[in-house]
Amino acid sequence: MNSAILTMDDFPSKNTPAIVDYLNEKKIKAIFFAIGRNIERYYEEAAYAVKNGMIVGNHSYSHPAFSSLPMAACIQEIESCERVLDKLYQDIGAKRTVRPFRFPYGDKGGENKAALQRYFRENGFHKVDDTQITYPWWKENGLDTDIDTFWTFDFMEYKIRPNSGFTRESVWERMHDANPELGAALFPRAMSQAPCLHEHKTNRVGLANAARVNTNVSKRHISLGAHQGSCAAAYGGVIDSGENNRHILLMHAHDETEEMLPEYYKVFIEHLLENGLTFEEPRFV
Ligand SMILES: [Zn+2]
Repeated sequence: MNSAILTMDDFPSKNTPAIVDYLNEKKIKAIFFAIGRNIERYYEEAAYAVKNGMIVGNHSYSHPAFSSLPMAACIQEIESCERVLDKLYQDIGAKRTVRPFRFPYGDKGGENKAALQRYFRENGFHKVDDTQITYPWWKENGLDTDIDTFWTFDFMEYKIRPNSGFTRESVWERMHDANPELGAALFPRAMSQAPCLHEHKTNRVGLANAARVNTNVSKRHISLGAHQGSCAAAYGGVIDSGENNRHILLMHAHDETEEMLPEYYKVFIEHLLENGLTFEEPRFV
């Protein structure tokens, strides 16, 4: 059975304490990737998450696309958020033992990519343990050596907005897509039984979006990633059962999503649990 760690981006929000309470009730320890200025705005909510056992990582100070910034500005974005996080932990009297980082939009910094990875290595940032992620595209794109935290599955629930046409059902479809074009199937049994129809209309929207924002993830990842691997499996080619694989799940702490779909996190996580996905405590290497 597949297992996963949960990450939630754009933390914190007004809704954070409710999310934290739900996760604790389900014994799920998540990594919340914080936007520095959001912490300044929702300080109590951020403190609540730390006090209640969640890990808070760095998601930059103001959520820019790193490939559009010179190196010095990238570092400033990272370090400004670090200062806010250090203060938060200090105020609470909690020890900050790990420093994970996630790039806004998964944008790894364009021409500064290598320099940024070196910066993370030399400045005490922590890599989430991904040793059990076995998808070929994970390695092909160097995600197994990058220090920042990428993901294997994005719920894309942040697209549930007025008149977007993207709804709870769209997320549902993504969760049950046996052959996702980007990322990996959540439910291995469905994947091995499903024929590949080469019709991934819902995902095409997501794919275009991912291709736009993940400027430094190669096109090969997007076009030849999990999709073709699992298509081959469906046609009796490469055996890619997806079983016993590790996921890094990506959801977002957005009050706007809460307004559209109350307790959205519960709706989706509950479904994963019912289908036997197990959550693990994040570990770091
Ligand atoms: Zn973000």
